[in-house]
Amino acid sequence: MITHYPILVVGGGNAGISVSAQLLNKNKKLQLAIIEPSEKHYYQPAWSLVGAGIFNKAKTERSEASVIPKGATWIRDAVTSFKPEENKVYLNNGISLTYDYLIVAPGIQLNWGEVKGLKENLGKNGVCSNYDFRYADYTWTCIQQTHQGKAIFTNPHTPVKCGGAPQKIMYLASDYFRKQGRNKQIEVAMWSGGTRVFGVPKYEEVLKGIIAERHINMQFHQKLVEIDGENKRAKFIGIGEQNKDVETWVDFSMIHVTPPQSAPDFIRNSPLANTAGWVDVDRFTLQHNKYKNIFSLGDASSLPTSRTGAAIRKQAPVLVKNLMAAMQDKPLEARYNGYTSCPIITGYGKLMLAEFDYDNQPAETFPFNQAKERWSMFMLKRYILPWLYWNEILPGRM
Ligand SMILES: Cc1cc2nc3c(=O)[nH]c(=O)nc-3n(C[C@H](O)[C@H](O)[C@H](O)COP(=O)(O)OP(=O)(O)OC[C@H]3O[C@@H](n4cnc5c(N)ncnc54)[C@H](O)[C@@H]3O)c2cc1C
Repeated sequence: MITHYPILVVGGGNAGISVSAQLLNKNKKLQLAIIEPSEKHYYQPAWSLVGAGIFNKAKTERSEASVIPKGATWIRDAVTSFKPEENKVYLNNGISLTYDYLIVAPGIQLNWGEVKGLKENLGKNGVCSNYDFRYADYTWTCIQQTHQGKAIFTNPHTPVKCGGAPQKIMYLASDYFRKQGRNKQIEVAMWSGGTRVFGVPKYEEVLKGIIAERHINMQFHQKLVEIDGENKRAKFIGIGEQNKDVETWVDFSMIHVTPPQSAPDFIRNSPLANTAGWVDVDRFTLQHNKYKNIFSLGDASSLPTSRTGAAIRKQAPVLVKNLMAAMQDKPLEARYNGYTSCPIITGYGKLMLAEFDYDNQPAETFPFNQAKERWSMFMLKRYILPWLYWNEILPGRM
């Protein structure tokens, strides 16, 4: 068995696969291995549409084997720890591998267990989440079965992948209730651990207008701590100065939960992590701040931007250029500007395409005002982006 690779990649998700494919497209002779335990690969951005009944869940899942780039070796195991001084990673099966260069991209960890009663109730009792492939279609069941009472949507106090996703499904549900003539009987509410609707004022203003017009009840500084599925009620604890430690039980007909999230445990307990637990890389070059032969991108990295696949699309070419420069002892010249994008679906056939950088300044692609809800942008999300993901992004062509 080969135990040394010039390039080792941890994680075969959006980031790991696209960056590996781009490297191999530049140089077919590179010896590169991807360590990935899962037999399946998922297109997670479509789970918001699955939860709204407008995307076939099966089409978001493919075999991992089908996305591993030609020329790469797939090691079907999980990394458990790192010894960067010895250029070594340890696998679950006890074996260790060494590398010349390491790319770390294992994604974000979903901490379902942090909310009492959540794991036990997920997928029943009106408790749903688009954040898990297994239950994304149960969200649609819940939306259809809600005729009165409260439809609650939560957003945790932690960073999440796709900061807009907790809201997208709320806007879709409220639009559905309105179309079905149920909006007077159902109160739609967001209970959020955050402090505001959206971090970029240009887009936030539009969302605030939608929230006011649809009478959505927004609660901030609130942390979900318990779900009592049998009695269909949820407990929140205030985390702001004004409501600190105040407990509130809220009855629900359905509750869509976005779980608390963090860097994976094997990253946060490793020498690669910064104090917050993420892989500690330079925000512009994506090179590790301490170990110069380590790079990171995607949800597990410390890059201080909204964690999305769209961000990875701009990070991957920067990482590739800088890694190749490092391999030739040249200065790292490529820079990532924090670009990220959040296609905020505001209803059936309506989407506002938010795109912005590290400074929360809009960085828009199209020559029109993207703060406007548009049918064309909904079509982009529904049909074009999934196609691009499987056919252009994963094969490293964009
Ligand atoms: C509901 C939802 C909606 C979203 N909407 C959008 C959107 O509209 N637009 C957008 O751009 N993004 C969206 N995203 C976010 C996007 O899916 C993520 O940002 C992206 O998948 C991150 O890529 P990644 O490679 O960092 O992590 P992932 O794609 O999650 O991949 C991580 C991989 O690492 C593997 N791994 C984990 N642990 C180990 C280990 N110990 N050893 C080796 N491998 C390991 C995992 O099995 C996994 O395959 C959404 C996500 C969700 C859940």
